[in-house]
Amino acid sequence: MPSRITTDIDFDRDGRQLSFLRLPHSSNTSGYGWIPIPAACLRNGPGPTLLLVGGNHGDEYEGQITVGEIIRTLDPALITGRIIALPAANFPAVMAGSRLSPIDQGNLNRSFPGDPDGTPTRALAHYIESVLLPMADILLDLHSGGASMVYLPTALARGTTDAARAAGLAQLLHVFAAPVSVVGSPAGMSENRTLEAAAERHGVLNLGIELGGGARVTPAALAIARRGVRRVMRHMGLVADAEDGPPTEMMEVSSDACFVYASDWGLFEPLVELGDDVREGQPIGRLHSLETPWREPVEERFRTGGRVVCLRARGRSERGDCLGHVATARG
Ligand SMILES: [Zn+2]
Repeated sequence: MPSRITTDIDFDRDGRQLSFLRLPHSSNTSGYGWIPIPAACLRNGPGPTLLLVGGNHGDEYEGQITVGEIIRTLDPALITGRIIALPAANFPAVMAGSRLSPIDQGNLNRSFPGDPDGTPTRALAHYIESVLLPMADILLDLHSGGASMVYLPTALARGTTDAARAAGLAQLLHVFAAPVSVVGSPAGMSENRTLEAAAERHGVLNLGIELGGGARVTPAALAIARRGVRRVMRHMGLVADAEDGPPTEMMEVSSDACFVYASDWGLFEPLVELGDDVREGQPIGRLHSLETPWREPVEERFRTGGRVVCLRARGRSERGDCLGHVATARG
C-alpha cells in the first residue's frame, strides 16, 4: 500500500526546495485538510544522500534548531549530492512542545514501520520508512532528553551483529565525535519500532544523537550538534570543510542494570551530576514523600558503576520513572 502523504518537493531536482509533506487528516475543524510537515531537499547533482531529522520528539529542541539552520543557510551550490531534511518531523508534537503527538498520542520513534492507513503518526512513520529511507545513505536523528530527561551530549549507535555495519557505525561515531559515544547492546536490537531500527532495515547507517534536554536549549549542546552534523557531511563528501574537535569517548550501555527507576512516588532530589563517575550501590538520589512529608525519603541506588550520561529533569516522579542511567567504558 503506497503512502497517502504527498509533497510538491521533487527529490531529484537540484537547488533548495523548502515545502511540506501533506499528511491527510480529516478533523472536526478541517474536513478535507492536511497536516503540513516541514520538509526540505538541498541537491546539487549526483552524490550521497544525508537524511536529517529533528523533532522526532516535539519537546527536543536542539535538532529542530540545527536542521532548520542548515536548510536555511547552506548554499546548495556548495554541496555534492543531496540533503533531505525533516526539521520538525512529528509536527503536531512540535507545535504542542510535547514528546507525543496530541492528535493520536503517537510517539513517532515507536511507530515504525508505520501504516499508510494508520493514525497520523503511524502514517508519517510509514512515509519515512517507505519513501525517504530508501533514498538515504546516512541518517542523523537529532534527539535530546526532552522535557523529562537531560543528557550529557551522547551519540548512540544501535547494536548489530553485522560486522561491516558495526564498523561503519563505529566510524560514524568517531566522525560525529560527540563527547560520549555509546554502542548499543544486543538487548536493544529487539526494539524494532524506532527510526534507527527502520534505518537498519534499509541498510542506512544512522546515529541517534542525545544532545541535552530538560525542555531547554544550551549553546554547548547546539555547538556539538552543528559541528557533528557538519563533520558527517564532510565525511560523506557532501561538503569540503568542517571543524575538527576533541575525540569522542567510546562507551556502552550493556544491560538494563545501567538504568535506575523510581521505586516509589515522590520529589526526586538527585545526589549526582551529569558526567559524574559513580560506583555500584552509590545513591543516584532520594525520593521525598509528597503525601507523608515526615517520612524518611526513599534512597535510590545505581545498580552498576559508570559515567552518569542521563538524569531525570523533573522533580515530581512516579514509580517506574527512569531517574537516570550510566554508560560504561567499552570492555
Ligand atoms: Zn527523542
